[in-house]
Amino acid sequence: MGPKRELKFALESFWDGKSSAEDLEKVATDLRASIWKQMAEAGIKYIPSNTFSYYDQIGFDTYFSMARGNATVPAMEMTKWFDTNYHFIVPELGPNTKFSYSSHKAVNEYKEAKALGVDTVPVLIGPVSYLLLSKPAKGVEKGFPLLSLLSSILPVYKEVIAELKAAGASWIQFDEPTLVLDLDSDKLAAFSAAYTELEAPLSGTLTSLNSVTAYGFDLVRGTQTLELIKSAGFPSGKYLFAGVVDGRNIWADDLAASLSTLQSLEAVVGKDKLVASTSCSLMHTAVDLVNETKLDDEIKSWLAFAAQKVVEVNALAKALAGQKDEAYFAANAAAQASRRSSPRVTNEEVQKAAAALKGSDHRRATNVSSRLDAQQKKLNLPVLPTTTIGSFPQTVELRRVRREYKAKKITEEEYVSAIKEEISKVVKIQEELDIDVLVHGEPERNDMVEYFGEQLSGFAFTANGWVQSYGSRCVKPPIIYGDVSRPNPMTVFWSKMAQSMTSRPMKGMLTGPVTILNWSFVRNDQPRFETCYQIALAIKKEVEDLEAAGIQVIQIDEAALREGLPLRKAEHAFYLDWAVHSFRITNCGVQDTTQIHTHMCYSNFNDIIHSIINMDADVITIENSRSDEKLLSVFREGVKYGAGIGPGVYDIHSPRIPSTEEIADRINKMLAVLDTNILWVNPDCGLKTRKYAEVKAALTNMVSAAKLIRTEL
Ligand code: GLN
Ligand code: ZN
Repeated sequence: MGPKRELKFALESFWDGKSSAEDLEKVATDLRASIWKQMAEAGIKYIPSNTFSYYDQIGFDTYFSMARGNATVPAMEMTKWFDTNYHFIVPELGPNTKFSYSSHKAVNEYKEAKALGVDTVPVLIGPVSYLLLSKPAKGVEKGFPLLSLLSSILPVYKEVIAELKAAGASWIQFDEPTLVLDLDSDKLAAFSAAYTELEAPLSGTLTSLNSVTAYGFDLVRGTQTLELIKSAGFPSGKYLFAGVVDGRNIWADDLAASLSTLQSLEAVVGKDKLVASTSCSLMHTAVDLVNETKLDDEIKSWLAFAAQKVVEVNALAKALAGQKDEAYFAANAAAQASRRSSPRVTNEEVQKAAAALKGSDHRRATNVSSRLDAQQKKLNLPVLPTTTIGSFPQTVELRRVRREYKAKKITEEEYVSAIKEEISKVVKIQEELDIDVLVHGEPERNDMVEYFGEQLSGFAFTANGWVQSYGSRCVKPPIIYGDVSRPNPMTVFWSKMAQSMTSRPMKGMLTGPVTILNWSFVRNDQPRFETCYQIALAIKKEVEDLEAAGIQVIQIDEAALREGLPLRKAEHAFYLDWAVHSFRITNCGVQDTTQIHTHMCYSNFNDIIHSIINMDADVITIENSRSDEKLLSVFREGVKYGAGIGPGVYDIHSPRIPSTEEIADRINKMLAVLDTNILWVNPDCGLKTRKYAEVKAALTNMVSAAKLIRTEL
């Protein structure tokens, strides 16, 4: 994206028709050149090319239409790239797919770098991962074996390889990230078959392939890889690209530790066959620390973004070769030591409280059905109660108010009165719509994680620490560097104010610990679950303060709980256990009459439904409307759900207004599998990105649909 998101702005200006295709290409060319030169200057030997995206020879129109859709064609499906926050566009294939070599992008980028005096290693997604990450196209049977296309795609790879060789490339990197998943033997065999076919006709298991000269492994996430190489050995004569510098995080590497890892590998692989590397591509980390002028020097000394990681890799390689930069290593060791001992990192009290949690269950004392009874006596809600997920539209005016307050251009008084006015507007709208459980609309929040991070200790924020999410969209995750605590209440002021404006129940609105964790750069000096427990304790305090302030319904969003699921099935149970435990910690102390809601995005819940039940929330609202009611099929198959549940009745990602009949039809389908007294009626997610006209129209129909069905019960 560029150190200051140059590509984002160039893309968006092109899409808006404000600049030409040439302007966009120029930005892209300059970016590539600067990255290659930067790596060359840092001393990197194997510099990748063909790593650039959002530029293609087939013509921008087709390319961007596939990605973004146009007036007549919907956009292609996007999905998350493994366990990162990057989304890729899923290729759609079928038995009649014909592959041909049309885009010469890899060769062109190679030549482009060469013209700048940089000899690069072109990177290609490997054929097996390409196929396994695709999906059967519309109209193709779901079980279509994508790997059956291997023999028809390999000839295209051969053409690319031939052309790259002719252009002078002496190395080519094939990325086969699907190898990190649980794979059956058929799929594993496909890797051997593919690479055997791509070069000499020899067979063997993965690390004995003759055609492959070097293997690159992630030694950070692959926690057992080092031991495996040491115990099982490594094929002689092959290179090992040892990914020791974490490409997924923003922490400065512990160079002494990495150097010793590399030295132990050298003993196995051989001196001239070991290459120091990052653990993965650097697209999942922030770009360059030099642009962080507001971070203080101590915290800055603990960090390394992509530009700094490249320098670390080079320093490690030099040290291995006997040219250790002592001053650089000493500065790194000092930074590591300061991170270990800094009072800003450690908070004894928090450590103790988190340690005390282990081994206990943290569950509300009463079961959910008796809690719901107690709550209903107080709340007195109609059947099929209506609610929304939290945010209301964020207007330009609202963003301006927040920005000016942050920049101290308006006083606190002015800010509070502007937000108060917005809340009262949102309350009025909901009362007019006759919604049963209200929200305050979250006008004071820019982002559901950043808002809390800014008020918790142990968090730092960057000015330019952007990471691409999809297309031109980037996220700027907070950095959790220390023990987390909550010095002051974070939401009580606004929730209390909102509740005072209405006699209907007003939901307190919090982000849950697992979501805060999964959407941040997390410290790597303690296990993730420790950090999660600390955040849980901070949120617990907030929950209890909200309850004490008279808030009877509290929603704790766990939008990203599903996302944190590890790639390997063997690790699922452990993650789900501490993630669900963290959620329960936040609310195990409230009274029976306080109703705890949670909300989850994304549709793929079927495999974790028992963990969701185990969260023991009183009510869950869940994204559902775009997933062909996949969620409901779990209940159809007999999973018992006794808590309140609101599967979203319409898609908030689209400007389309659903009709009353359509929503009523959805509700009826839900009633076929769920008890009347547990069903809630709500949209899929927050309404932040929609316009008021859309929101009012859609919610009007949603409430009418609920009322219509109430009369039919
Ligand atoms: N309460 C948040 C909102 O409505 C939830 C957002 C989310 O689930 N991503 O905006
Ligand atoms: Zn959501």
